[in-house]
Amino acid sequence: MIKITDKKNCTGCYACLNTCPQSCITMKDDFEGFWYPVVDHSKCTNCGLCENVCPVMHKTQENNEPRAYACINKNEIIRLKSSSGGIFTLVAEHVIDNNGVVFGASFDKGFTVVHSYVESKEDLEKFRGSKYVQSKIGDAYKQAEQFLRDGRQVLFSGTPCQIAGLKSFLQREYDNLLCIDIVCHGVPSPKVWERYISYHENRIGASVKRIAFRCKDKGWKRFSVSLLFNNDTEYLETFDKDLFMQAFLKNICLRPSCYACNFKTLYRQSDITLADFWGIENLLPEIDDDKGTSLVFINSARGESVFKRIKDKILYKEVDINKAVEYNLSAIKSVEKNPKRDKFFKELDQVPFDELVKKYCSDGILVKVKRNLKAAVRSVLKKLKLLNMVKNMAKMIRMK
Ligand SMILES: Cc1cc2nc3c(=O)[nH]c(=O)nc-3n(C[C@H](O)[C@H](O)[C@H](O)COP(=O)(O)OP(=O)(O)OC[C@H]3O[C@@H](n4cnc5c(N)ncnc54)[C@H](O)[C@@H]3O)c2cc1C
Ligand code: SF4
Ligand code: SF4
Ligand code: SF4
Repeated sequence: MIKITDKKNCTGCYACLNTCPQSCITMKDDFEGFWYPVVDHSKCTNCGLCENVCPVMHKTQENNEPRAYACINKNEIIRLKSSSGGIFTLVAEHVIDNNGVVFGASFDKGFTVVHSYVESKEDLEKFRGSKYVQSKIGDAYKQAEQFLRDGRQVLFSGTPCQIAGLKSFLQREYDNLLCIDIVCHGVPSPKVWERYISYHENRIGASVKRIAFRCKDKGWKRFSVSLLFNNDTEYLETFDKDLFMQAFLKNICLRPSCYACNFKTLYRQSDITLADFWGIENLLPEIDDDKGTSLVFINSARGESVFKRIKDKILYKEVDINKAVEYNLSAIKSVEKNPKRDKFFKELDQVPFDELVKKYCSDGILVKVKRNLKAAVRSVLKKLKLLNMVKNMAKMIRMK
């Protein structure tokens, strides 16, 4: 039976819970606000099915040959409402046009992030845009399985570990299943998210009624978090100043599994991977208008077939996948755990949210921006064949 001895070995994907024939697994939140499976020993028959479906315990090796594209949805309204180039909506609409069902992450009434499904284009709105909080799968795998058995087209979108969880849970291939994953930095704690919302609601004296993580009013690269309150006050702050985004990008509140992610690779279990095309200003400056460009990996024949059908609604250009990933290392490499992470969580229940973030994330310099900049400089130096020379000079300076 499943026993979590090291938290970094559980992504919280829900595959074990959904598989247990005795329904004796529940998910319990720990003090950081991340859920883990707990087994009721009095009901467990030791059948081992939960371990069999765990995508961390049983890793899958894919051998696909992904192709990468820079993509922009020609529909400007949808593009501006989406996190990057608005490609998710086009794929989802294609599936719905074929009487399909689309699964994705949305806010519930209390702004918890949860997985659910929709069957109409109007309802896709709730999945549009990134929510930088771990989404709860709940019954979504079981619901998807039922639709697949009924012969409906199913699009399932989520983090790479959620797609791995779904595939493990299903235990067989379905021709009518299409999976989209994202390039995933990592997922912040739902408890930290709750604290952030309460902090703003107390400050404004009204409840939040709408949230957008990726508002493009000041540009896609310098995106803002927007909160609209019931008294019609709006909070709008760029990502480098927003408290939640600071904590997220400082890697201080991610799920333990995200610091040792098993699913960051170019060889993915999904059919299509979506990301922001960071570095577009260097690789394809002619199409960069700062309104959002997606980096899209087409990983399978099924992904290729859908891409062909939506191509006329996209401005696209094929790119060298390795060059694109140099600016988006989250695709292949886990972020480093912030050394102050444990202290941050210990004080989460004691220190007011704004003080806590200022205390532990105060320098405001984004680790990720620095890392991507470093990768970009290395890439340019490599191209100019100057990298080794600069490395040797740095070594000599250090020796002095
Ligand atoms: C937690 C998280 C971390 C990310 N990290 C990176 C990164 O490091 N680098 C990068 O280039 N891109 C990252 N992305 C992806 C990026 O933000 C966009 O989602 C992607 O470019 C698709 O944009 P779009 O314009 O095509 O569609 P959009 O409409 O913006 O995308 C919506 C899609 O995202 C899914 N989604 C939204 N929130 C969640 C969630 N919490 N969990 C699972 N799925 C979710 C929806 O189900 C839907 O499929 C991340 C996204 C998330 C949610
Ligand atoms: S071993 Fe079988 S019965 Fe026990 S928790 Fe796992 S799936 Fe459920
Ligand atoms: S990774 Fe998923 S299947 Fe494995 S123990 Fe965690 S929740 Fe269960
Ligand atoms: S970083 Fe890895 S473990 Fe964390 S949510 Fe993303 S895919 Fe899952």
